Amino acid sequence: MSTLFLRTLREDPADAEVPSHKLLVRAGYVRRVAPGIYSWLPLGKIVLENVAKVVREEMNAMGGQEVLFPALLPRDFYEATGRWTEYGDTLFRLKDRKGNDYLLGPTHEEMFTDMVKGEYSSYKDYPVTLYQIQTKYRDEARPRAGILRGREFVMKDSYSFDLDDEGLKRSYENHRAAYIRIFERLGIDVKICFATSGAMGGSASEEFLAPAPTGEDTFVACRTCGYAANAEAVTTPAPAAFTGEREALKVLDTPDTPTIDTLVAYMNEHHGLNITGADTLKNVVVKVVTPGVKEPETLVIGVPGDREVDFKRLEAALAPGEPAIFEAGDFARHPGLVRGYIGPQVLKELGIRYLVDPRVVDGSEWVTGANEPGKHAAHVVAGRDFVADGTIEAAEIRAGDACPVCGSDLSIDRGIEIGHIFQLGRKYADAAGLDALGPDGKPIRITMGSYGVGVSRAVAVMAEQRHDALGLAWPREVAPADVHIVGTGKENQIEIATQIAEELEAKGLRVLLDDRAQVSPGVKFKDSELLGLPTVLIVGRGIANGVVELRDRASGDRSEIPLAEAVQKVLEACA
Ligand code: ATP
Ligand code: MG
Repeated sequence: MSTLFLRTLREDPADAEVPSHKLLVRAGYVRRVAPGIYSWLPLGKIVLENVAKVVREEMNAMGGQEVLFPALLPRDFYEATGRWTEYGDTLFRLKDRKGNDYLLGPTHEEMFTDMVKGEYSSYKDYPVTLYQIQTKYRDEARPRAGILRGREFVMKDSYSFDLDDEGLKRSYENHRAAYIRIFERLGIDVKICFATSGAMGGSASEEFLAPAPTGEDTFVACRTCGYAANAEAVTTPAPAAFTGEREALKVLDTPDTPTIDTLVAYMNEHHGLNITGADTLKNVVVKVVTPGVKEPETLVIGVPGDREVDFKRLEAALAPGEPAIFEAGDFARHPGLVRGYIGPQVLKELGIRYLVDPRVVDGSEWVTGANEPGKHAAHVVAGRDFVADGTIEAAEIRAGDACPVCGSDLSIDRGIEIGHIFQLGRKYADAAGLDALGPDGKPIRITMGSYGVGVSRAVAVMAEQRHDALGLAWPREVAPADVHIVGTGKENQIEIATQIAEELEAKGLRVLLDDRAQVSPGVKFKDSELLGLPTVLIVGRGIANGVVELRDRASGDRSEIPLAEAVQKVLEACA
């Protein structure tokens, strides 16, 4: 440490909100360059490489072969699949000196497909799985939390190429098993969640979410049947349609009812109804910008009034369209939409698309806006008084909602997406015309899977899941070193510490030695806690009595051991 390029900080960086960001900066692992763009310092670089090593070993073990693509890519490949446009503002686009369009790769499906097409032609060549560990670029709308959501980040992306659906399933299962091993070795606790609504019961796409209170993803889990899904993918069981008689629609005065609660109270008190918030239909207007389309679309979403629209679920449901808030100025341009009193009764007439929560089945009856200030309508019946253009999963999910598989109560938690496995099918093979010549001389269209691990994000996730008030606590497999030997004091402690370090290195351990002469013991201890190496050996004042102190960073256990046994005990602790 007397020569290590490292400066630890006592203060949290001003822009950091989550623990991993604060600690990785304070411990001198990473430094910010620009929003979502970070440099790696020596200790951080070692951790990053160690993560990559674990990922690489497990990918090789499952039969993957490593390749490396450029990050700087010409436009045509992404034009052919529509993603040059579809990716919208998230894509970093640039021009070369001749004015040709380029991009910085956000993910590489197109390139892998093209590479396989160039090399392989016969059915005998397949299956094959290729991967790379490479830097990706995405101009994220909300870069966040240091390296957790960067605009430049390291990803392991792999792609499987198979002749048929069974082959794809096998490749997918192999990846799933490899990912389980990867995250086990990294000491990252993960929950495997369905990632698309189509995946119900199947496994077309799953995300590996690392539970963490600071996570941006919300996931549900069912303790009864084991169902787990990203909230974005949770499907709402629809009640049966109602076919009996309903009262006629009635427009009612509802003065001073700015909220659902006040509306419900007023309706029950003054108009003889007996409703709750769940009987009201709340209509939220958004404008949806679709990449490649000039004019944003005005869209109304109908959800039961006791639930908010969950913007992340809405975004997932509308992708690649991007919803935005409907502002006062937008309302001014749409006088037919009476703010606070929107009812679906007029939307057809206004030519505005209307999507409803799956609970809004035909025959269901609602209290909703009457499209006049101060008035609401009761007995508004779906299918009779309005017809929606479709359903949308956009209402918030709550703890206690029914599991879509078994009906038990769902729990709800937050997590960080650390991996994603996805049965792509033939989309990219279709775009590139990727075929294998079959045994009968006929072409077979290849089917693909794509699989990602956030390598740099994993560093943040480990920090997020494994830290305390004092600092980080790395799992041994990725720690910058196995043992941190801290020599403190004015006598010959540093000399002894250096000797122990040399002996341990000779035995194959990776050692970080604090041999700084002018630094106080207090500062050295603080640094060792902040840096978070799994085993710490203190060679300090105890030397006078022939003892040193062995510390376990994660458990906090401390024990005094005879100096003569130090090497042996450290080896045992690091085994
Ligand atoms: P998110 O929903 O978090 O934006 P994504 O679904 O867009 O991620 P994928 O395209 O599935 O991400 O990428 C594969 C993996 O790469 C993710 O599971 C995640 O671990 C990592 N990753 C994605 N975006 C970022 C980012 N901006 N910074 C760091 N890692 C990322
Ligand atoms: Mg993903």
